Amino acid sequence: MNFTIQNVLIPDENAYKSVDVQISDGIIAAIAPELDPVGTAVNGKNKLLLPGFVNAHTHSSEMWQRGIMSILPLELWLAELYDFAPLDIERVYLSALGTAVETLMSGGTTVVDHLVLIPDRELETIAAAVRAYREVGIRAFIAPLIQDQPLAAGIPSGETDEQVHESYFRPTEVTLELMQAAIEEFHKPEDGIYFALAPTGIQLCSDALFEGCVGLSNNYDLCRHSHLLETKAQQKLAQEKYGCTAVEHLNRLGYLNSRTSLAHCVWLTDSDIDILAENQSTVVHNPLSNLRLGSGIAPILKYRQAGVNISFGCDGASSNDSQDLLEAIKIGSILHNVTDADYQHWITPKQAVEMASLGGTKGLNLAEELGSLAVGKKADLVLYNLTDLSLLPRTDPIGLLVLGRPTNVVDSVWVNGKQIVDNNKVKNVNVDRLRQELFNRSQWETKRKSKTVAELEQHYRSIMNLKD
Ligand SMILES: [Zn+2]
Repeated sequence: MNFTIQNVLIPDENAYKSVDVQISDGIIAAIAPELDPVGTAVNGKNKLLLPGFVNAHTHSSEMWQRGIMSILPLELWLAELYDFAPLDIERVYLSALGTAVETLMSGGTTVVDHLVLIPDRELETIAAAVRAYREVGIRAFIAPLIQDQPLAAGIPSGETDEQVHESYFRPTEVTLELMQAAIEEFHKPEDGIYFALAPTGIQLCSDALFEGCVGLSNNYDLCRHSHLLETKAQQKLAQEKYGCTAVEHLNRLGYLNSRTSLAHCVWLTDSDIDILAENQSTVVHNPLSNLRLGSGIAPILKYRQAGVNISFGCDGASSNDSQDLLEAIKIGSILHNVTDADYQHWITPKQAVEMASLGGTKGLNLAEELGSLAVGKKADLVLYNLTDLSLLPRTDPIGLLVLGRPTNVVDSVWVNGKQIVDNNKVKNVNVDRLRQELFNRSQWETKRKSKTVAELEQHYRSIMNLKD
């Protein structure tokens, strides 16, 4: 469909200008004042047009446990999360739908779903998430979360000898074969569904799994996505496992390249940062999750100064506990003002918007075709209503969008030139029905006990030098 957004505000080098933006066959065809309209006219008056943001790291099925997870550090939190993880396919579908809707309504046009798989129903799990994303029309990276070591292996032992853990329920080669089958079935960029290889992280993955993922990503030309050094415990664990840092080890395995995006990156050394910069890998900043789980503050300003690409993620809704991308962008940019006294390095609202859009697409190897308002790029666009109370009075629209608390300000969203949000309503999904499903399939509860947390807690406390 061809259309022209008329009299819309867009940012330029100094401030803002009012222009018409023409979209033909899903591509931005022209940007200039007073163009002859092509196709349908869209009224852009008193609205701001920005490229869509990327929700560059999330786990959609965590939606089912948002709000209830205990206040715990990652290693114990994960034990609780897995003890109560949803194991039915319809729930996977509904939470992917919810994740897509919340991402769209906070400015996102692409989501990276580090999708937790239901054991022995992996392909069905992936199919359910794909179905949801296709229905909504959001651009989606399906990054199935894989591991080949049990949960207990993710906590440092405190011993110098190599640790032997019970084996994982599925051999590494079988997991890799499963990923290959999933790639063949689901990787369809022309339909807006991309597959990525996503070993969860050094804490639960063997070298063989990482190497297998490198092979598959090279063969099929796909992105790689992992958690990296989210917690201090993982930093310790890397030294125990490898005798070097996790980044040095992943670099030796050939895992780091320009299509590798790494969630968190809280506990890196200065030389690790240089390695990421050399490999042009992307750091996905998930500030709310890092605060919620007490993981620490990722040194984002250092990454920026070293030339490392940054994008923003919400992380799963069990560690956030929402999927509001604008909130992640706000906290993720001002958080660093307390860690670095030199205010000249602080992140401005305009820089934050660029990190969320172009930074996001760079991390997915899509910067050539997406991530900025430029002629020739694909039309993944978000139109914000500047007359909403939360964006008034009229000051600096991007300043208020990032630093304020915008509510219901997304007027329209297009992905690949197709409109999927119109007048603040998601077009292709019945959100009332989704609300009803989420309501019906849940109940208010305040107390539940995780068996695995009880098993792991004492060891965790002693290894982290926490007094009883
Ligand atoms: Zn995560």
